[in-house]
Amino acid sequence: MNNLNLSTSKRMLNEAKEFLPKGVGSGARAPFQIVASKGEGSRIFDVDGNSYIDCMLGMGPLILGHRNPRLIAAVTEQINERGSMYAMAHELEVEVSKKIISAVPSIEKVCFSNSGSEAVMDALRIARAYTGKEKIVRFEGHYHGWTDMIYISSFPALDAAGPREAPNRVPDSAGTPELYGELLIPLPWNDVEILGDTVTRQRDEIAAIIMEPILGNSGCIPPKPGYLEFVRDLATENDIVLIFDEVITGFRAGFGGAQSRLGVTPDLTTLAKALGGGFPIAATGGKKEIMDVIVDGGTAQAGTYCTNPTVMSAANAVLDQLAEPGTYDHLFAIGEKLGKGLEDIISRAGHPAVYQGAGALFSIFFSEEPLTDYRQSTPLIQVEPYEAFQSAMLKRGVWFHPWPIELWFMSTAHSQEDIDYILNVAEDAIGEVK
Ligand code: PLP
Repeated sequence: MNNLNLSTSKRMLNEAKEFLPKGVGSGARAPFQIVASKGEGSRIFDVDGNSYIDCMLGMGPLILGHRNPRLIAAVTEQINERGSMYAMAHELEVEVSKKIISAVPSIEKVCFSNSGSEAVMDALRIARAYTGKEKIVRFEGHYHGWTDMIYISSFPALDAAGPREAPNRVPDSAGTPELYGELLIPLPWNDVEILGDTVTRQRDEIAAIIMEPILGNSGCIPPKPGYLEFVRDLATENDIVLIFDEVITGFRAGFGGAQSRLGVTPDLTTLAKALGGGFPIAATGGKKEIMDVIVDGGTAQAGTYCTNPTVMSAANAVLDQLAEPGTYDHLFAIGEKLGKGLEDIISRAGHPAVYQGAGALFSIFFSEEPLTDYRQSTPLIQVEPYEAFQSAMLKRGVWFHPWPIELWFMSTAHSQEDIDYILNVAEDAIGEVK
């Protein structure tokens, strides 16, 4: 197989380093080899004229694919006919709220922001205001955005992480004051005993337990049977707010998110990514009683761009399309066919392979064993063969993130033919992996 011509991409990425830190607009894009020029349906194109089936989909948001006609029509009509920004109450914000509330089991009232990180900030503040307590239990390997209040012990180096029963607080970024860490209790996920013991000891201090109910930031890792039910009961018994961060899984693991797929209802939920179909919108919602700390508890929730009509028209068009019958049957069927197909191809070629998926998102790991939590999975995931596979697939017109812990995403724009094409070229590409 000939090498791809990526000369323009390479030159542009190199030049960009002079103007943008690392040459990219966001940290997780640093390892990319290509510069995008446009997207269309299930495909993304680069500046050298190559095209790829896109299985990264903007890191999750593009659940309808690129340039979905009904989404584009709704947003352009909004902007052309009625304007992009009011900073005043308007009809669409109520319309979209009603649609979210009817889709997501835990949400009775909802507030909006512009990114997943902000939705998490809102959730943590609301939980603290509601309980009058300050500490937050978070789990290693889960990502809740890059703000100082929570970007600590998301991905700790294992030699710095300390004992499993009482992990160290390890900042994920330089520039994070130690004081923020003191408000967090990092723990390993999927471990009933350690969480139970910690809550028993510190119940009077703990305002919230936050988690991705299906872990999507250390690859796709499902909760162990009974784990979410255990956490649900534990939180209720100890006056702790349970927060599901469904920024990835919302409208992706199912129309009602991971909570409807798994049948466990949190107190608060955060949403972003798929909700906007590529436009920057996020939401935090939950029980009325808890959300009402914003109404009469003196809890601030604000933002110049919150519920601007551009993103609300996008979310409205996304939710209408996702609610149509058959949408999730298609998304789940292609996700599973592709994930299981890749697992089969990789293992037939003599490599250890594990598929772990939840509907329209999945991971494929080069690993001898299934993955259950961050500490267990980090040494198991074989990085080099995955990178070699990603590179071999790129040459054959398939784009996904080069890091094994990043997910594969499916959209309504992906067809059965796209999946067959990917599986077909994977048979060939795996031969390049040593
Ligand atoms: N929460 C989860 C589960 C995420 O995966 C992300 C981003 O990937 C965030 C929060 C932060 O969202 P954003 O990048 O929109 O700030």
